[in-house]
Amino acid sequence: MLARRDIPPTAIRLLVLDAMMQAKQSVSLADLDNMLDTVDKSTIYRTLTLFLGHHLIHSIDDGTGSFKYAVCGDTCSCDVADLHTHFHCECCNRTFCFTNLPAPMVKLPEGFTIESINYVLKGICPECAARKG
Ligand SMILES: [Zn+2]
Ligand SMILES: [Zn+2]
Repeated sequence: MLARRDIPPTAIRLLVLDAMMQAKQSVSLADLDNMLDTVDKSTIYRTLTLFLGHHLIHSIDDGTGSFKYAVCGDTCSCDVADLHTHFHCECCNRTFCFTNLPAPMVKLPEGFTIESINYVLKGICPECAARKG
């Protein structure tokens, strides 16, 4: 996966990518810091910045004040057409990628060009709904 995005593999990069792929939802820098005891936070941050630059991962501003990060699909180039719906559970605070639900397009007034879309829905995830009964 690193090779496909022209990122030279290092032990740290493999660790960070592996941790992100094992998480079922997007992760914050603090989440990764907790998951990877052996790697210091600034190294994780630099790795994330590198991954972002190569479109291996994308960032999500879910309104919580800390960005979340998730691994991109193989064909994703982080163009507007690749942008998808995110869902933030207000109960457990997790943010999910719905990669098969493209962000809806709106028709803008003439002269305006879309460069990115931050489409985050908020609510309760199935696990929290079940817990609440
Ligand atoms: Zn939840
Ligand atoms: Zn996503």
